[in-house]
Amino acid sequence: MDNKEFLAFQLMWIVISIGISVTVSLFVPFPYSWVIIIGIFLLMGFYMRNRMAKNAGAGMFGSLSSPFSGNSVNYYCMSCGTKHREASCPRCGSKMKRVG
Ligand SMILES: [Zn+2]
Repeated sequence: MDNKEFLAFQLMWIVISIGISVTVSLFVPFPYSWVIIIGIFLLMGFYMRNRMAKNAGAGMFGSLSSPFSGNSVNYYCMSCGTKHREASCPRCGSKMKRVG
């Protein structure tokens, strides 16, 4: 979403918040209305954060994973020369390896 959409989203969010607060305090007596409002806000905030984190996470993961998914870097075992990408050599089990 771009900046304008984000502003509209924020505005909508504020309107919804006020709407919920007013509606709840109309139907529920004071101390309980606050508990319900805070509960709703926590839930919605959690939901929104989850959605945003998912979006941001996908973007971040995409850019982070690309250098590692490339085949430009190869590892060769130091003792037998086998090309592998494991922690230890699949042929001889040596953990020593060089980048080539
Ligand atoms: Zn080896």
